[in-house]
Amino acid sequence: MHTKTLKELSALLQARKISATELATLYLGRIAHSDLNAFLHVDEALTLKQAALADQRIARNDTTPLTGVPIAHKDIFVTRDWRATAGSKMLENYVSPFDAAVVERFNQAGTVTLGKLNCDEFAMGGSNENSAFGPVKNPWDKAAIPGGSSGGSAASVAARLTPCATATDTGGSIRQPASLCGVTGIKPTYGRVSRFGMIAFASSLDQGGPIAKTAEDCALLLNAMAGFDERDSTSIERPAEDFSAGLTRDIKGLRIGVPREYFGPGLAPDVEQAVRAALSEYEKLGAVLVDISLPKTELSIPVYYVLAPAEASSNLSRFDGVRYGHRARNYTDLSDMYMQTRAEGFGDEVKRRILVGAYVLSHGYYDAYYLQAQKIRRLIAEDFKSAFEQCDVIMGPVSPSVAWNIGDKADDPVANYLADIFTLSTSLAGLPGMSIPCGFGQGARNGRLPVGLQLIGNYFEEAKLLNIAHRYQQATDWHLRQPEQA
Ligand code: GLN
Repeated sequence: MHTKTLKELSALLQARKISATELATLYLGRIAHSDLNAFLHVDEALTLKQAALADQRIARNDTTPLTGVPIAHKDIFVTRDWRATAGSKMLENYVSPFDAAVVERFNQAGTVTLGKLNCDEFAMGGSNENSAFGPVKNPWDKAAIPGGSSGGSAASVAARLTPCATATDTGGSIRQPASLCGVTGIKPTYGRVSRFGMIAFASSLDQGGPIAKTAEDCALLLNAMAGFDERDSTSIERPAEDFSAGLTRDIKGLRIGVPREYFGPGLAPDVEQAVRAALSEYEKLGAVLVDISLPKTELSIPVYYVLAPAEASSNLSRFDGVRYGHRARNYTDLSDMYMQTRAEGFGDEVKRRILVGAYVLSHGYYDAYYLQAQKIRRLIAEDFKSAFEQCDVIMGPVSPSVAWNIGDKADDPVANYLADIFTLSTSLAGLPGMSIPCGFGQGARNGRLPVGLQLIGNYFEEAKLLNIAHRYQQATDWHLRQPEQA
């Protein structure tokens, strides 16, 4: 049962071949036996209560395609009934008085929450080693990282601990862990999914999206997740779209832009091989490859690592020990209380980013760093604009290598930042991007670690990306491969 896709589970629920309660019980059992550290909070009674409500809805035929379907949420989405820690000691025991818009939407659709998923602290990271609650293990090789920051989301779907999960992507955190764990994830266009109740990292970049086994499942999830929300000032008002409607559309003649800069010396040969094989598969499906250039790719790293920390330093100033979260026990006066609280509550990577952010925003450096980075951000978006005059979709690798071992890059923040090279520019431009499983590479210990293919679309072309991904998944079975123990 746990190997079934969300679409299949939905059909079984609607046909009453299985109940939401049975399904929730099955997954709770799998979670209880897992040692991946993917889940931070599980509350069986709460889950079963939601499942019972879903069963009542099914009994009275008041359903959506997601009613009774189990889901787990990245712990960056606030939840009324569950703690929301954002992977930080600062929020270790925090319970929000309201649900995030995304959680609210899924609750309305009738999903059953299995729990909250581990992630890098405040979503800062690409390996999940920055969680205050310990790293998540990659189900393909438990010595390896699952990717981050949505490592719990990707690992739990890969290990079949949940059929689907929510995640967020600021500079790659949906696509990169999806790639390293061999599952499917989509980061929508900035503004598509409400940020209300998503604990903020870098507000001009943060965007929620789903992770599941297939593109078809991601479409179903996005149908529930996306939509205008007046409580988020950057939410975009557009007519509702059915992301499942055009999945099987023919892709003959599709022009796939292959950016030169994504296949340089920094790309591991095994990843390149898997990605090139996927491109050939697309040619067989009738697509044509177009050589394109995204010349500013290299600048995305310095630009992102100026802008994201700048926004983070501002967003995280709310954690002062007064309003919510951790407060130091011992202090002499108010400002000492702020300092002790923040010193104790934040981890190293978060502190590093606050320092960098405060620096680039400070008088005298603002023009040299922050403003300069904003200007280059615009140029990066222009790169994509010209590219989309020559092609319909852009494809390349997600990550320059397969998953590395836990600890391997732990002492070298820059090595971690460099691994974001293929995902950051999409986020800086606000474009939608996907990762779909496309093969395996050579891991340090295990010869079979997943490789993801990245699909980048023009603004609001999620439906097109899902269609292109679905056609590939109809022709191949990489997305159905699962780790041995799952
Ligand atoms: N790895 C990037 C970072 O560390 C992206 C994280 C994200 O998308 N949340 O900031």
